[in-house]
Amino acid sequence: MIVGTSGLVLNEKLLFEHSDAGRKGYSLPALDVPAATLPDGLCREEIAGFPELSEVDVVRHFTRLSTWNYGVDSGFYPLGSCTMKYNPKVNEVACRLPGLADVHPATPDHLAQGALTLMYQLQEMLAEISGFPAVSVQPAAGAHGELAGMLAIRAWHEARGNARRTKVLIPDTAHGTNPATAALAGFDVVPIASQGVLTLEEVAAHMTDEVAALMVTNPNTLGLFETNIEAICALVHERGGLVYCDGANLNALLGIARPGDLGIDVMHFNLHKTFATPHGGGGPGSGPVGVRADLAPFLPGPLAVRDGDSYRFAGPPGSVGRLLAFHGNFGIMVRAFAYIRSMGAQGLRHATEMAVLNANYVRARLEGSYHLPYATRSLHEVVFSDRDLPNDCHTLDVAKRLIDYGYHPPTIYFPLVVKGAIMIEPTETESQETLDEFCDAMLAIAGEAGADPELLKNAPVRTRTRRLDETGAARQPRLKWERPC
Ligand SMILES: *Cc1c(COP(=O)(O)O)cnc(C)c1O
Repeated sequence: MIVGTSGLVLNEKLLFEHSDAGRKGYSLPALDVPAATLPDGLCREEIAGFPELSEVDVVRHFTRLSTWNYGVDSGFYPLGSCTMKYNPKVNEVACRLPGLADVHPATPDHLAQGALTLMYQLQEMLAEISGFPAVSVQPAAGAHGELAGMLAIRAWHEARGNARRTKVLIPDTAHGTNPATAALAGFDVVPIASQGVLTLEEVAAHMTDEVAALMVTNPNTLGLFETNIEAICALVHERGGLVYCDGANLNALLGIARPGDLGIDVMHFNLHKTFATPHGGGGPGSGPVGVRADLAPFLPGPLAVRDGDSYRFAGPPGSVGRLLAFHGNFGIMVRAFAYIRSMGAQGLRHATEMAVLNANYVRARLEGSYHLPYATRSLHEVVFSDRDLPNDCHTLDVAKRLIDYGYHPPTIYFPLVVKGAIMIEPTETESQETLDEFCDAMLAIAGEAGADPELLKNAPVRTRTRRLDETGAARQPRLKWERPC
């Protein structure tokens, strides 16, 4: 039996694989013009077998599915690392303005001055925020920005005749995209150990003349600021390498520290994380990349450049080339632009301060009930582990039980350096009441693990589906409608 959100009992058979032969969602007037014939090659031999439903059935189907989903607009969403956060509705208004939404990507520069101005100003604002003099807004995601940055690093070394530099150092706290990107850009990945944060000694031990770059995330995926970053950058430079920063966690630094000032050479931004643009189901995103001055010629192009009072696409001279057709995910750029302009410099700094405060508030309330693997102060996110949970209860059980309490679970089992990791990122927009309710639920679950562990092991019980075969869902996804027998 399935009970819908309205309390009505629903017929499960009608929920998804639903079709009634002959039913239609449209009614057209009788044909009163000569019928046209389509060219043979364009016609199907057989009717495709789509579901046959009335308009009302279709509307109800999708409306119902939408209520089974959970998002930032339905409740607290503590996923760490990905910063699913505030998506101001005014951004949606901005990116739907016809002059921005309808501009064709092949419009000649002199007729696209508004869009070019926006892209130019966004490049400038990101440069100011990060401390990198040159920025390309072309890459379409964080990982794509990483690729752009690593290709620029390769081109920079090649331009200096350093073809021997084929290795990239990556700490064990890194997001999986980092080694994947380095490999895709043609480098060999050398994993290095961190003690929560990277030590100068560990970097020094690996920093040979075969190393092209160190790839580091700051703050890292444990939510910890890389306290040795300046000394590490100096050492890598001294030995002829460059430092790439994964900027996915930039929302912990806005208005407080600029990666370019810390000695970092290249960094990508995730506009869809730090600058509040929605990113469900893998896209769309935008991953601009910023570089220090002598790497600017290698940025992916073209860039928006200024000529007196007008703007055009051009260069850069030694560019690694285009990374995609046209000019990137423009709609995401408009949203990020609107966000940065509406927040202002003070507002961005305030967002960072509140993000750090909120993460530390959650940390303070849960410390003692959940094991904290690193005592170092947290920035915008905090990572616990399941080490001290009784009765063989694990991170997955806590995550599933949180669903019964009405919450989307935090990120689990990442970063990989923490066994049974529970990574919580509240973000800056949540009120103290929301954080308290969430922490109360987490504490109640820790109590249940001791008193009645079956509650955790059987969870979730209040959802339409219980525990899923997540591996099966990933390996053999069933994504299309199938006609019921
Ligand atoms: C999200 C994320 C990435 C990858 O960014 P995408 O936009 O998803 O490609 C890389 N590193 C870290 C730390 C991230 O959180």
